Amino acid sequence: MSTPHEERHLLAEADRRALHYFDGITAREVFPAQAALDRLKTLDEPVPDHGYPAIEVLRRLDEIGSPATVASNGPRYFGFVIGATLPAAAAAERLVLAWDQCASSFDNSPAAAALERIAGQWVTELLDLPRDSAVGFGTSATACTLACLCAARRVLLARQGWDFDGDGLMGAPEIRVVVSATCHITVKKALRILGFGMKRLIVAPTDSHGRIDPQQLPALDDMTLLCLQAGEVNTGEFDPFAELLPRAKAAGAWVHIDGAFGLWARASSSAHLAAGVELADSWTTDGHKWLNTPYDGAMAICRDAAALAAAMNSDAAYATATQDAQKNLTLEFSRRARGIPVWAALSALGRTGLRELIDRHLRQASYLADQLRAAGYQVLNRVVLNQVLVRADSDAQTVAIRVAAQRSGQVWFGPTVWQDRPAFRLSVSSWRTRDADIETLIALLTELKRTTPA
Ligand SMILES: *Cc1c(COP(=O)(O)O)cnc(C)c1O
Repeated sequence: MSTPHEERHLLAEADRRALHYFDGITAREVFPAQAALDRLKTLDEPVPDHGYPAIEVLRRLDEIGSPATVASNGPRYFGFVIGATLPAAAAAERLVLAWDQCASSFDNSPAAAALERIAGQWVTELLDLPRDSAVGFGTSATACTLACLCAARRVLLARQGWDFDGDGLMGAPEIRVVVSATCHITVKKALRILGFGMKRLIVAPTDSHGRIDPQQLPALDDMTLLCLQAGEVNTGEFDPFAELLPRAKAAGAWVHIDGAFGLWARASSSAHLAAGVELADSWTTDGHKWLNTPYDGAMAICRDAAALAAAMNSDAAYATATQDAQKNLTLEFSRRARGIPVWAALSALGRTGLRELIDRHLRQASYLADQLRAAGYQVLNRVVLNQVLVRADSDAQTVAIRVAAQRSGQVWFGPTVWQDRPAFRLSVSSWRTRDADIETLIALLTELKRTTPA
């Protein structure tokens, strides 16, 4: 057991090491070098019989772990849509760790309950969604989508007189699930886990931008669950909500929006991109992507607060799901107050700071696309958001350039497949990314385009 003195020393040492890591975040290789990866093997050992002193545990973690990290908290990580962590959010998380709250309900943590309630209200305001929606703070957009789709299923079945809680799914009326042809893999995962077979999904064809084509929208009815996207992961495009949602409403369908990163456009000067999205029934979005909060922080937002609370109900009394307890809005029972870093990020940014953050990324992405075109690349999307989808002259050159860029240690971005051919995707989503970092990326890719055989 540690003495209070040892505990203080240990935490101070953790802070010291964390600060040292931050000091090096800009200079370090974005993807770790092979030697650092090899050293991870030294952690492979049997469970220690007696345990190491905690200070020693921390030292090994830092000396072996830190060099093998990906600098996704740095300025030149352009993979997926992985934002860094805002200092206000990281600092809040640091303090909340000292509290060690079980943020399931007011009784377990009045502070967490109040802060998450406020964070939820702010999010609905900033994203301009119905203000009395329930906001559950879950681990990921995947988990939050699962929660929203549970609510959707329960409501659609109840409208047919089916008691989902009592009778379950066996023999229930069939729900027709309509998804976009470019639906994110994690939405399919949520659907599959929920028992909506992949072979039964009805796929809505998309246009060349990856948006559902309204002319080809499959028939909708009051047993349809329609999953739309705010921010297609490759192109950053939005389904035409203003056209699709009134049709879905008129048909009595439930509409769920996957807005893992793209929904934050609502807080920017480009809010028009997602016009009409507020008409949906449920939405998911991440804090840990574009809002730059730590993992795991995501939101399940449901217009019918009682529907989400009933679906996620974990109150002992079966029929009384209190909507203000997070344990009734997310999959978790015992949970970390993951809404607090969201509150802290929004407190520190304010409405203006948030708009500036998103606007800056939109501007940087659009500049990046122009410069890459000038360097001879094909930019495959319209770059309406923060995603830039790129191809070189041949598939071989595209792959070779991406691999060389990853190996350079200067930047990192990942591969994707667009219209059946390899491409790579650059995502601008870190608050640390300055214009100079975009110039570094452009210079590297320009040089690689010149020197890599076509
Ligand atoms: C990242 C992403 C998801 C999944 O979010 P997680 O928080 O990683 O579960 C879903 N949809 C889109 C469009 C995404 O970009």
